[in-house]
Amino acid sequence: MLAESFDEREAANLFKYALEDYFHKRYFDIKDFDLNEEEIEELNYIFEKISNHYPIQYIFNKAHFFGLDFYVDENVLIPRPETEELVHWILTNHADNSLQILDIGTGSGCIAIALKKNKPDWKFFAIDISEKALEVANINANKHHTEIEFFQHDILPTTNFFVDVQLYMERDDAAPLQLDIIVSNPPYIPFFEQDKMSSSTLNFEPPTALFVSNDSPILFYEKIADFALLHLTKNGKLYFELNEFNANEVVTMLQQKGFIDIQLKKDLAGKDRMLRCTIIN
Ligand code: GLN
Repeated sequence: MLAESFDEREAANLFKYALEDYFHKRYFDIKDFDLNEEEIEELNYIFEKISNHYPIQYIFNKAHFFGLDFYVDENVLIPRPETEELVHWILTNHADNSLQILDIGTGSGCIAIALKKNKPDWKFFAIDISEKALEVANINANKHHTEIEFFQHDILPTTNFFVDVQLYMERDDAAPLQLDIIVSNPPYIPFFEQDKMSSSTLNFEPPTALFVSNDSPILFYEKIADFALLHLTKNGKLYFELNEFNANEVVTMLQQKGFIDIQLKKDLAGKDRMLRCTIIN
């Protein structure tokens, strides 16, 4: 079955992954095929899904990101290598040990958790619109023993996020929490770019995490920038992952809102993929 959709070597690799990651058997131990009938049926079911380009990360509930294994399912985007580059960039830019950081649209939690693993003293908040994504993020935070405050929140309407945080933490001071870093990999694919996407992303990854309307492709960046103007500390940094096709629009929008020191950075594929900027306040 796999051989119809993949070349021989790729099919053999996928078979090996299935044995090792799903059945926890070792490929070289399978000389005498010792899977029972039920397992063979299950294997066939998996192969059918893989042949239809269903992501293997969702089958095995596992994706690698920044040297860590993350639990993933259809409720979250599969972490991408470009996003590892964003995490790496943040880590190389901040030596300070006591920063407060918010991840907007955390999904699987991969950005916040990978950062927390490397900066255990930073205090993390993370939000997502999707309850189900937050369940996944929680699984991952527990798996990696990282303490992160997760909140269900939609960034598009004007925000009462910090009211929620203050209630949760039973803080009675009225001053909003201030953040040293805000990071986001928001939905950034306008529907008209769908034809550029792989069928596995298009058909199986969560549309809420991916798409924005054709009319306002940088809407999330605008809202997050407004939020950052209110909640970033002096010299606080805003980091974005970007769509290479509208990266320059995001830069212009940030300049118009008064952000300074805007740095665009290319990913390893040479595409404008991330940005950082700051504010004077
Ligand atoms: N980089 C992802 C992709 O190409 C999209 C991530 C996003 O929309 N934030 O599918």
